Amino acid sequence: MDAFDVAVIGAGAIGTSVAYHLCEKGLSVALIDRGDIACGSSSHCDAVALICDKQPGIDTVMGQASIDLYGELSKRFEYDFEYDPKGCLYVCETDAEYEAAEKYVSEQVANGCDMRMAGNEELCEMEPYIAKDLKGGIYTPGTGAIAVSPYKVCYAFVEEAKKLNLRVYTYCKIRKILLNEKTNAVEGIETDQGIIRSNKVINCAGAWAPDVGEMAGLEIPIQPRKGMNLVSEQTERICFHKILEFGYMMSKFDNINFKRNVSPLVEEYNVAFNIEYTKANNLLVGGYRGFRGFDIRSEIEAMKAISERALRFFPCLKDIKCIRSYAGVRPFVKDHLPIVSDVDSVPGFYIAAGHEGDGICFSPITGKLMAQIVTGEETDFDISRLDYARFAG
Ligand SMILES: Cc1cc2nc3c(=O)[nH]c(=O)nc-3n(C[C@H](O)[C@H](O)[C@H](O)COP(=O)(O)OP(=O)(O)OC[C@H]3O[C@@H](n4cnc5c(N)ncnc54)[C@H](O)[C@@H]3O)c2cc1C
Repeated sequence: MDAFDVAVIGAGAIGTSVAYHLCEKGLSVALIDRGDIACGSSSHCDAVALICDKQPGIDTVMGQASIDLYGELSKRFEYDFEYDPKGCLYVCETDAEYEAAEKYVSEQVANGCDMRMAGNEELCEMEPYIAKDLKGGIYTPGTGAIAVSPYKVCYAFVEEAKKLNLRVYTYCKIRKILLNEKTNAVEGIETDQGIIRSNKVINCAGAWAPDVGEMAGLEIPIQPRKGMNLVSEQTERICFHKILEFGYMMSKFDNINFKRNVSPLVEEYNVAFNIEYTKANNLLVGGYRGFRGFDIRSEIEAMKAISERALRFFPCLKDIKCIRSYAGVRPFVKDHLPIVSDVDSVPGFYIAAGHEGDGICFSPITGKLMAQIVTGEETDFDISRLDYARFAG
């Protein structure tokens, strides 16, 4: 029988970071996944960590702390996870969007964020292939907008943690969470590879966290929210930053109210344009948000809607071939904040899940915060809004 200080369930961007940060504290850790490392959402996504797609407050604080940590880890880790401080442009199509963007930027700048507005002329200088009629946009430099390779991030955390005290169980099916009959405290996990003893278990199963929660008698309100990307053939660089349309904020959140001038198809699929180049010079073009359960098949209508919106912002894309598409699920929580928390009713059970479209961005900081919670240290900042208890009652 294997025994560890902590068992972490789920080897995505969140679980691998949590495992690494726990090992860094000197703890022995088991990292368990029913598939391989990064087989879930963390290999079906884009690759950016931004502050300019976060709501002011804890969302932005987490984003900035995580981006800063990525910078430190890129220097410290031997494993290269393709850290690239590429910067970001959020482009506005209309005056109404530009005004809303200005308001957002002044609030974020007052909170200490490094971002500013750029007008049409500057935008066209920064991005010579972009549509010429845009109003301008929000520019965030590399201090607040980076790219990484998401699955390499997972492998980097695993490889670095293995140098400490990590044991990885892949293709390992969890049968049940073992709980003490009297106290309901965690005692371990029963798996198809045997029993793993630990009095601390962390649920990092992303969109599947509710299934793992159920094994401990808990209801975890996370839903799978689908996203999809088109991948282009390798091209000359036609864009030089991560670029999103301002309407992305509307597709992500539900508290920004203005109507875009888009076709019924784009509206139906909740498509908001975003584009980035990869290290190999393929383009990733997104994106869409929809509730389709765990079905991650590509949808032809969504692909058409994404293409339509992409051509609006980068007309030259009409000459570039799409070679494939892929979809994934974002672990969605209604209040748009992840759960990073212990659970009063099940001593020794913790949750780090529900990061929706920000799990890659929030990966380093979530691992650091969870390690602080588990070891009883004070967290770097107040994370009471991430508590599981907010769903009680
Ligand atoms: C199209 C798209 C684009 C995105 N773009 C970005 C982006 O640019 N930036 C960003 O920050 N985020 C982005 N995201 C969101 C990001 O992908 C997720 O937030 C992140 O991957 C979640 O990481 P995770 O570790 O919580 O979950 P996952 O990566 O899904 O990891 C959970 C793991 O748990 C395992 N698991 C599940 N159930 C069990 C079980 N019973 N037993 C054992 N193991 C189990 C799974 O196999 C999986 O490996 C995007 C998502 C999509 C779909």
